[in-house]
Amino acid sequence: MKPAAFGFSRPTSLQQALDVLFGNPGAKVLAGGQSLIPLLSMRIASPSMLVDINALTELSYVTCDDTGVRIGALARHAEVEAHAQARRVQPLLSRALRLVANPTIRNRGTTVGSIVHADAAAEMPMVLRLLQGSVTAVSVQGSRTIPAESLYIGPMESTVRDDEIVTEAFFPALPRSAGVAFEQIARRQGDYALCGVAAVVDSGADGRITSVRAGYLSVCDVPTVVDLSEAFAAQELTEQALHDAAELASASLDPTGDIHASAAYRGELARVLTQRVVRAAYDDSRPRHVEVEA
Ligand SMILES: Cc1cc2nc3c(=O)[nH]c(=O)nc-3n(C[C@H](O)[C@H](O)[C@H](O)COP(=O)(O)OP(=O)(O)OC[C@H]3O[C@@H](n4cnc5c(N)ncnc54)[C@H](O)[C@@H]3O)c2cc1C
Repeated sequence: MKPAAFGFSRPTSLQQALDVLFGNPGAKVLAGGQSLIPLLSMRIASPSMLVDINALTELSYVTCDDTGVRIGALARHAEVEAHAQARRVQPLLSRALRLVANPTIRNRGTTVGSIVHADAAAEMPMVLRLLQGSVTAVSVQGSRTIPAESLYIGPMESTVRDDEIVTEAFFPALPRSAGVAFEQIARRQGDYALCGVAAVVDSGADGRITSVRAGYLSVCDVPTVVDLSEAFAAQELTEQALHDAAELASASLDPTGDIHASAAYRGELARVLTQRVVRAAYDDSRPRHVEVEA
């Protein structure tokens, strides 16, 4: 199929882009096009106009400081994945990004575009929620910060308005006392996952766990985060606590089924992967403690 007819604009400043969006209800931002163009070709989306932001090169950045990583709207997945400082400040970013599609798509697709696209099967919306990050959305009326926890409201639906451009995503730094892990199951390498789970585990120097959070993609119809801390009750990692955490996750999730996997199968994958990633994130946190103590 071919897309329905649409107008096209390639503004050279952010203000111009915002003016075009404001003046053309039904217009859509075009970033890497890796999600939007297939939707146009299948006529699932029929915007009145595409506002191509690829000339706004000032939005092509990745910056880091002690507080976290800031990713501009035109930073491609591959640039973020390869950014050495970003990998140090928030290691979950690169570990998740190397699971996104394949290198060709990562060379063109933007991390911010993926966050706005709000696909519950995508890695970066879930990672943003798990890390309690935020986005900056700008319109002709001004700028606002949207915390990740209020960003996703339904399947492929976010609270970003049609007249807004998300200029930046912010991922907080990983505390020295924490570790992270990410695992997912896909039929073939590069496919969207049938289920993916990431965890952030915070532990004290004595090995006792103080907080465990896990994020789930492709399980529910929005990216979902579950606080599993109560299963550990400030103990060290034990098999019983891991089992309890997996049960707690199962009870908190409401998996959806589709032609790729039943709800029951997704729920079982989530249970198994929860144990694996919590264990791996705990192990990941221990050398970081040693670094602090050294
Ligand atoms: C074959 C294939 C496999 C894929 N597999 C995966 C996968 O395994 N995991 C995964 O996470 N993704 C996957 N993707 C999607 C890919 O990661 C896209 O890059 C990403 O989802 C969207 O980024 P984009 O820059 O291409 O956005 P676009 O396609 O340009 O836009 C996507 C949507 O976001 C909006 N948008 C984009 N940027 C902004 C902005 N700055 N402000 C406001 N609105 C904006 C657009 O209007 C549109 O609605 C796959 C894509 C393909 C084609």
